[in-house]
Amino acid sequence: MPRVIVVGGGLIGLATSLLIAKQGHDVTVLERDPEPPPKMPEEATGDWARPGVMQFRLVNFLMPRGRQLLDEHLPEVTALLAASGAPHHNGLATMPPSVTDRAPRPGDERFATLAARRQLLEYAMATVAESAVDVRRDVHVTGLLSDGRRRVTGVQLRGSELPADLVIDASGRRSPLPGWLAAIGADAPAEESEDLGFVYYGRFFQGPPDAGGPLPIPAGLFHYDSYSVLVLPSDTGTWSATIVLSARDHALRGLREEAGFTKLISACPMHAPILNLKPITGMLAAAGISDRLRRTVICTAPVVTGLLTAGDSWACTNPSLGRGISIGLMHALATAEAVGAHLDDPAALAVEHDRLTRKRVLPWYRATTQVDRQRAAQVAAAIEGRPPAPAPASPEVQVVQDVSAAMMVDADAFRAFLELTFMLALPEDLVSRPGFATHVRTIAAALPPSRFPGPNRQELLAMLP
Ligand SMILES: Cc1cc2nc3c(=O)[nH]c(=O)nc-3n(C[C@H](O)[C@H](O)[C@H](O)COP(=O)(O)OP(=O)(O)OC[C@H]3O[C@@H](n4cnc5c(N)ncnc54)[C@H](O)[C@@H]3O)c2cc1C
Repeated sequence: MPRVIVVGGGLIGLATSLLIAKQGHDVTVLERDPEPPPKMPEEATGDWARPGVMQFRLVNFLMPRGRQLLDEHLPEVTALLAASGAPHHNGLATMPPSVTDRAPRPGDERFATLAARRQLLEYAMATVAESAVDVRRDVHVTGLLSDGRRRVTGVQLRGSELPADLVIDASGRRSPLPGWLAAIGADAPAEESEDLGFVYYGRFFQGPPDAGGPLPIPAGLFHYDSYSVLVLPSDTGTWSATIVLSARDHALRGLREEAGFTKLISACPMHAPILNLKPITGMLAAAGISDRLRRTVICTAPVVTGLLTAGDSWACTNPSLGRGISIGLMHALATAEAVGAHLDDPAALAVEHDRLTRKRVLPWYRATTQVDRQRAAQVAAAIEGRPPAPAPASPEVQVVQDVSAAMMVDADAFRAFLELTFMLALPEDLVSRPGFATHVRTIAAALPPSRFPGPNRQELLAMLP
């Protein structure tokens, strides 16, 4: 009998299983999708079918923090990713020309990631996992087994059962765990969830293979009044451009069509050059993606033992900041650490997993949803034609605002902006740096308000049919 069963062979289920297998434990991954990773990377971005992951063909970015965690703990994954055509992309390449101090500094390599489409990332993770872990595909987990005393003892499959010492639910944002727990008579987990109503319309383009030179198009997430544009380099010379807006903005729905999308991108001088590349997909859309947090330990009491959650099953965020994989990798590490220390003591394992999750990973979930909430409020104000309500006053909010302004001219502020964006520092980390908040406050206060060149919502409405 496997000691550990991981339900779900997505990025985080596989990462968790690899980390636990490295400790010498017997791990089995049960994945509903039947197709194993293809032999060659170019097949991964071709026909590989992964219906269990709705975002499989959508825009994707691995935060430098996620790349760093993979380099440290699963270097075979980043090695295969790089060998499969994912180039190193350093965020410093996006430094605005208005920053005059352009000298490199020690530690600048922390801003680098491997630019890859999700299919390639899943290919690298799954290929490494297949060689190290028992991955069983075409296996649909339908419920939990229990001893009737709030202890999970394995999983139910279609027509059979598989016992285990520990079950880790990594079945993603649509994880049916509350139903499974109810079916074995356990208390419900505590959940909080909200849908901030962002929608995403984008497509991929093929550029020349990465030649390692300066970026031909500025990459990043650019906020306009009621919409944002996300431009990302990817593997083998591919790029994506995505418009992020509010589902409530019915008047801008035309942006999901190719004609509306092209009209907007061509009206934004910073992004228009991407239209010179060859489109390699039609329009890709995503909507209705909630932020959701689930806790199976309530006030230090686990609702069951013998069960942990990992990745999106524990907490998922809407993808406007592209953080889910990196938050999930942090969680995979916390999960493996707890398993390494307490696999033989289910109650201690549940409590330690909860403690590590709250200490190391929860702050990133909270920070992400806070940024998203502020952006949603700005977008709502722009749609209603009123100024946005001021963000709640706090040193953390102030330093983020000041960094966002000062980064246009100051090299320290730009690096701090990358640290925030790439999940290398939380706002409170910047606040605790001696003199930093005053430094960026002084610069930001002296700068006139600025905005990226491109139409505002009223101008956009006039442009669209
Ligand atoms: C539109 C969109 C875009 C995103 N873009 C980014 C981005 O650019 N950068 C980023 O960092 N994050 C992004 N994310 C978030 C990121 O995709 C997730 O955080 C990450 O995939 C979570 O991995 P996971 O393994 O926990 O879950 P998943 O990737 O969802 O994997 C879950 C797996 O479980 C399997 N499964 C489900 N139910 C069962 C069952 N009953 N039995 C067996 N197997 C089952 C599924 O088939 C699937 O393979 C995005 C999310 C969305 C929705």
